[in-house]
Amino acid sequence: MKKIVIANRGEIAVRIMKTARKMGIKTVALYSTADRNAPHVQLADEAVCIGEAPSNQSYLVGSKIIQVAKELHADAIHPGYGFLSENADFAEEVAKNNLIFIGPKPNAIRVMGSKLAAKETVKSYDIPMVPGIDKAVTDIEKAKSIAIDIGFPILIKASAGGGGKGMRVVEEEKDLESQMQRAISEATSAFGDGSIFIEKYISSPRHIEIQVVADSHGNIIHLFERECSIQRRHQKVVEEAPSAILTPQLRSKMGEAAVQVARSCDYLGAGTVEFLLDEHHNFYFLEMNTRLQVEHPVTEMITGLDLVELQIRIARGEELSIQQNDIGINGHAFELRVYAEDPLNNFLPSVGNLEVYTIPSGPGIRVDDGFNEGMDIPIYYDPMLSKLITYGKSREEAILLMLKAIDNYKIEGVQTTLPFGKFVFNHEAFQSGKFDTHFVKKHYTPENIRSIEEEEAKIAALIAVKQYIEDQKIVRLPIH
Ligand code: ADP
Ligand code: ADP
Ligand code: MG
Repeated sequence: MKKIVIANRGEIAVRIMKTARKMGIKTVALYSTADRNAPHVQLADEAVCIGEAPSNQSYLVGSKIIQVAKELHADAIHPGYGFLSENADFAEEVAKNNLIFIGPKPNAIRVMGSKLAAKETVKSYDIPMVPGIDKAVTDIEKAKSIAIDIGFPILIKASAGGGGKGMRVVEEEKDLESQMQRAISEATSAFGDGSIFIEKYISSPRHIEIQVVADSHGNIIHLFERECSIQRRHQKVVEEAPSAILTPQLRSKMGEAAVQVARSCDYLGAGTVEFLLDEHHNFYFLEMNTRLQVEHPVTEMITGLDLVELQIRIARGEELSIQQNDIGINGHAFELRVYAEDPLNNFLPSVGNLEVYTIPSGPGIRVDDGFNEGMDIPIYYDPMLSKLITYGKSREEAILLMLKAIDNYKIEGVQTTLPFGKFVFNHEAFQSGKFDTHFVKKHYTPENIRSIEEEEAKIAALIAVKQYIEDQKIVRLPIH
């Protein structure tokens, strides 16, 4: 493998290029007209504009991407996450054109891309599942009787859903019909597939996922867990590894279950098996993401492994050089997703120009980003600006480092989730490890951030006054 095309943008395109360069592999960046000046374009050995800003005219046009790869004599395509990364048809086309898709085989993507097909596939592997139905339901009376059997509250989910979209909690029977209709129409418009199903709504779960890696020689290992319970809109904002609450026994049980899930779909490459963990520490299979995960860096920090390098080696047909017993957990890592969103206003996207952009640096601090000062944040794509990652010998050390790093991350021109991150890492429930997926709902209001900011403003004002008095003394001295 001498040259790869990176079919993505932003921080993940940059992240993949760094490893490719380290491995002596040339990179081709693709970009839309909105990303002409983006770092991923500057960093690549070659760069090709593939269309207009809307992703269905650029980053989602598989045929064009394959054409570029062939014209530039690339050997492989890395899809990153989002966009075409979980599109089985695209993976198939890539292979048909004698290019390597850096990811699993189309069948595994297809099966795991449908939450229903995934449940069907892992069924015979003795994997615990959330109580619910494993078939799409459209008939309202049938849905009602299923929901009553399971017991309210229930969760309506889109089989093709992802990124936290397409989910509706139903507390009472009377709301089921209207919520179901909404869910079906949303799923149809967002995912082109209206299949929905019903799951028991686990009341205070933690989202714990396991990183797996499988080679083409039949070896499958897991790289422990990531705790992803701090979410807004069912989507993660803060992640950590290892989880503050897993015992070594539970860790190895969940790890083995994840390996079985990978085995069930003949998995290849790096993937993530997501579970919910209830208050009694029972775990349930949620879904598998057949790609590199946004929060993969926390796993890299605690294992010392480069996941993109493993992906590339596996795609080249190499056998894994590590076995399960070779890998251990060393230290603790956190990731804060820095979104261009306003935490004071319901986390709505905040677009604009990055007037000031200075990243924190130092031992134990890693920033994966894809923007420079002065750039506009395009409205066309996911509003994630960067990922702030900290690593410490202990959980406490990594938390303190995160708080320091947040203070040293200067962003002006758009609102970001940095102040929200500060709130989370300062919170007693987070620090003590006693939290679940309802952390935001339970503990967070915009006033939390406002009061922190007011407190800081007061301190800043006091310091200024003190300084003023000091200055006055110095000025007065020569007069007397
Ligand atoms: P992860 O699952 O890696 O933790 P996210 O859930 O935030 O991360 O998803 C990563 C990216 O992929 C986001 O840009 C999200 O919008 C996108 N995404 C994930 N699943 C889907 C899907 N089924 N359809 C469309 N976009 C998706
Ligand atoms: P997506 O494909 O959008 O990532 P997931 O099935 O992975 O969908 O669920 C995303 C999040 O939604 C979970 O992390 C969790 O917070 C919540 N969730 C999903 N299923 C359930 C459930 N049965 N009970 C409670 N919360 C759930
Ligand atoms: Mg998920």
